[in-house]
Amino acid sequence: MQVSAILKEKGREVVTADPDTPISEIVVTLKDRGIGAVIVAGEGDIPAGILSERDIVRAMPKHGAKLMTMRASDLMTREVVTCTQEHTIDEVMKIMTEGRFRHLPVIEGGKLVGVISIGDAVKRRLGELEAEAGALRSYIASG
Ligand code: AMP
Repeated sequence: MQVSAILKEKGREVVTADPDTPISEIVVTLKDRGIGAVIVAGEGDIPAGILSERDIVRAMPKHGAKLMTMRASDLMTREVVTCTQEHTIDEVMKIMTEGRFRHLPVIEGGKLVGVISIGDAVKRRLGELEAEAGALRSYIASG
């Protein structure tokens, strides 16, 4: 299965934030939308960065309560790794495992067209494995 099939199933909505959005607002967005990261909008459609709950938690010991008044651009990761709709589930799982992150923006024709999380990938891979096991069981039973 490719990323395009995952996006077809889960939708292409991407939650973004402007670089100057206060962290206090980002925290509310993450909670209300039930997500772990926002894409920080850049010039045109290409992300300027990605900001995950992990960035906020890691900054807490250093900044304390002041953290809430800091901006998305202060904490975001600027070197964003992306994939395309043609990547397979195995490929995106490898990219996320090796990069030690759980979110992958999907870029197509220079535009941001979706986001895949590690949860999306694992869910579909498990579905594939179950289908394969079922097919093997039927094959063995019919033989
Ligand atoms: P996550 O596991 O996605 O919560 O993110 C862990 C760390 O990796 C955080 O510092 C994120 O800003 C960063 N990160 C998340 N996704 C990406 C990505 N696609 N490319 C680069 N860094 C990322």
